[in-house]
Amino acid sequence: MQLAIAEAKRARDRGDYPIGAVITRLTGRREVVIASAGNRVKTSGSSIKHVELETLKYVSSGYGRYLPDFVLYSTHEPCAMCAGACVWSGIGAVVYGVSLKSIRKYNLFWKWNKPMGLDVSPIVTRGFEL
Ligand SMILES: [Zn+2]
Repeated sequence: MQLAIAEAKRARDRGDYPIGAVITRLTGRREVVIASAGNRVKTSGSSIKHVELETLKYVSSGYGRYLPDFVLYSTHEPCAMCAGACVWSGIGAVVYGVSLKSIRKYNLFWKWNKPMGLDVSPIVTRGFEL
């Protein structure tokens, strides 16, 4: 988690949201860092470039489709998109710092989104029935 916090500080220093993530691999009694990164939503210009998703994609590309021997550490509770990626990657464990409840309570990110007029309720249309 210390490394994830350091990545969050680096992200903040370059103007991104202060969120960091680390993925480690457990091999026997050893835990080895495989990937670490900070959030790049602002500097990449992509609203879906969340650090949890990006680190999962990186590790999946090198270590296989499912990651049962890996642990994701994130400074913040993963959002619905990243939580889904955690489930689909089969990662062994997720450890996070700040909860989504606290993020909302203290208005940590929402105050940045509202001035942009971000609508987080897209129209969803159903497909077909089987
Ligand atoms: Zn996310």
